[in-house]
Amino acid sequence: MILPIFAYGQPVLKKKASDINSEYPDLTKLLDDMWETMYFAHGVGIAAPQVGLSIRLFIIDSIQIMDDDKKEEGIKKVFINAQVIEETGDLWPYEEGCLSIPDIRGDVERPQKVRIQYYDENFKKHDEIYEGINARVIQHEYDHIEGVLFVEKLKPLKKKLIQRRLGDIKSGKVKADYKLKFARI
Ligand code: ZN
Repeated sequence: MILPIFAYGQPVLKKKASDINSEYPDLTKLLDDMWETMYFAHGVGIAAPQVGLSIRLFIIDSIQIMDDDKKEEGIKKVFINAQVIEETGDLWPYEEGCLSIPDIRGDVERPQKVRIQYYDENFKKHDEIYEGINARVIQHEYDHIEGVLFVEKLKPLKKKLIQRRLGDIKSGKVKADYKLKFARI
């Protein structure tokens, strides 16, 4: 089932999300719905707060954005109760976008590598290091479960330039080819 995506301005996007355990009701169904929603909206990742749930869960398929000769470097994974242990390496700019903030893109600087501990969909624990594009997508989605949005990490001038468009999104004045759920003001 395709779920509506919570748009910029929705309080759930600004909340630090909570851990879940293996008893979480209908987790398999939720994951199926999140994959379906992400692919339908042409996303590379989606986090639970973006479908209105303040839980520490996000999914990523970076295989889609890898060059043809580098597909095997991409990842398709579920991250539950993730904790970033360490971010290392030089900061590098990369243009990010977000399904909750349609039509806005901008360069965000983040460290090259990330070490992350998380559980997969079978509640098996992992401790891994990612770099490059994979790290970037993980860092963006991880921010979602911490209640942080990429637009908060843009340079001050760029932030100023998008202020009005953010206001429009907040009040529902934006179109996307997937269903958005706006905050009622
Ligand atoms: Zn996002």
